[in-house]
Amino acid sequence: MDENMHILKQGIVIAIDGPAGTGKSSVTRLLAERLGFIHIDTGALYRAIAYLAHGQNDGNNVLEPKASQLAKTAHLEFKLNPKLVPVNRIFANGSDVTDFIRTPLISMLASQVSSYSQVRAALLGLQRRLGCQGNSILEGRDIGTVIFPDADLKFFLTASSFERARRRFLELKENGGDAPPLSELKKQIQKRDLQDSSRAVAPLKKAQDALTVNTTKMTLDEVVSTLENRIKKYFSKSTCK
Ligand code: C5P
Repeated sequence: MDENMHILKQGIVIAIDGPAGTGKSSVTRLLAERLGFIHIDTGALYRAIAYLAHGQNDGNNVLEPKASQLAKTAHLEFKLNPKLVPVNRIFANGSDVTDFIRTPLISMLASQVSSYSQVRAALLGLQRRLGCQGNSILEGRDIGTVIFPDADLKFFLTASSFERARRRFLELKENGGDAPPLSELKKQIQKRDLQDSSRAVAPLKKAQDALTVNTTKMTLDEVVSTLENRIKKYFSKSTCK
């Protein structure tokens, strides 16, 4: 825990929502490190279900019954491994699937499975349990609206679709994977945005009480510092002088 942050309250939940490529994962990871909070990447849960389902179907579509059955029965857990990057690893049925869930195909399939109401219902309790293990920061699409509508603080990150495609391109390259051309990535991001924000259940949308941070022209460090300052300011408010 940051020694300058005098938090008396326990069980703090901070929600960070926003569309793909706004830097949510990097921002949340760094913020969690700085504040000593638990980082929960809820997108990894949908990605893990998409990955398991894809392995079984071997197709580029995951049908609702299969995805729902997997979401109800798969054992998903996060484990820290300081020897591996990223440090926060996701295990599905005992196997570390972290390195397989970030491909463009799994991104699209994750968006597809996340539109199924039974998948969302199956993962809701797990997300709440994970978030209540200690002081936590959760990142996703519906954290501030559905998973933790009473979160202590809520942020909604945005950025232009060109900038988000550019960041995804660099991330794929850095991870040594194949990166589609920027124009293709931009199309994929826009398609995923449309799917995520137009679905019937828990669509991507800003919670009324969330603070919007447009990250288009900001560096990662600037975004992290902006949120960190806001969080510290919020928790340093004291009724006792
Ligand atoms: O955040 P990330 O890009 O890893 O999420 C992958 C997909 O999982 C998103 O496109 C979205 O469809 C879905 N998702 C969701 N609700 C969340 C987190 C992710 O629907 N809380």
